[in-house]
Amino acid sequence: MGEVIRVTVWNEGRHEKTMEECKAVYPDGMHTVIAGFLSAEPDIEAGTATLDEPDHGLTDDVLAATDVLTWWGHMAHHEVRDEIVDKVHARILDGMGLLCFHSAHYSKIFRKLVGASASLRWREVGEKERLWVVQPGHPIVQGVGDYIELPHTEMYGEFFDVPQPDNLIFVSWFAGGEVFRSGLCYYRGRGKVFYFRPGHETFPIFKNPQIQRVIINAVRWAAAPGSEAALGAGNVVPLEKLET
Ligand code: ZN
Repeated sequence: MGEVIRVTVWNEGRHEKTMEECKAVYPDGMHTVIAGFLSAEPDIEAGTATLDEPDHGLTDDVLAATDVLTWWGHMAHHEVRDEIVDKVHARILDGMGLLCFHSAHYSKIFRKLVGASASLRWREVGEKERLWVVQPGHPIVQGVGDYIELPHTEMYGEFFDVPQPDNLIFVSWFAGGEVFRSGLCYYRGRGKVFYFRPGHETFPIFKNPQIQRVIINAVRWAAAPGSEAALGAGNVVPLEKLET
């Protein structure tokens, strides 16, 4: 792969401070765990940023030096300042990758990118989930196998109010009977966006090796921006002589 992929792992970071069950799973915050397994890869360098830092840790310099941003938020989506969301959005259209995990479906940035409410059904009883791979040729699922089984998760169910994705990578089954489109790819400008459902804060989801495999794969997929030339916009001369 050559060049190192620069990742910024963004985390709201509030549950880890306020909720004992979450602190028990992620004593140093889930961003530390995510950045840790990503940085163990030879081609990835991952830093972290959190809501309560100045500019939420997403200064112009940080964004300019980020190839892929990952996002986890839940209870404080509304506290993310709109001007920062606008800057993140502009960077994505310019080619920065974005991975949104779990409750980031309701983040300002994800809803802005998909242009929909991103609402869904949920249930928190710790039931079993199987994420079935439905596009086995996609780079995001290499090395994953037929499915990922999580013994205890929060359930997310359809209808998930998002536009049809450019690629549907996973469909989840839940023990309680629901299904959910749990791995979605979108292309926005030159940027690649991946929504990945797992990641509830009271279960050790980000410590699961198959989940880590998917996230590592998704970072590599999202790090390569779309062609600037092919996206070219502006007034153009005809390629053939036109009779006018
Ligand atoms: Zn959750």
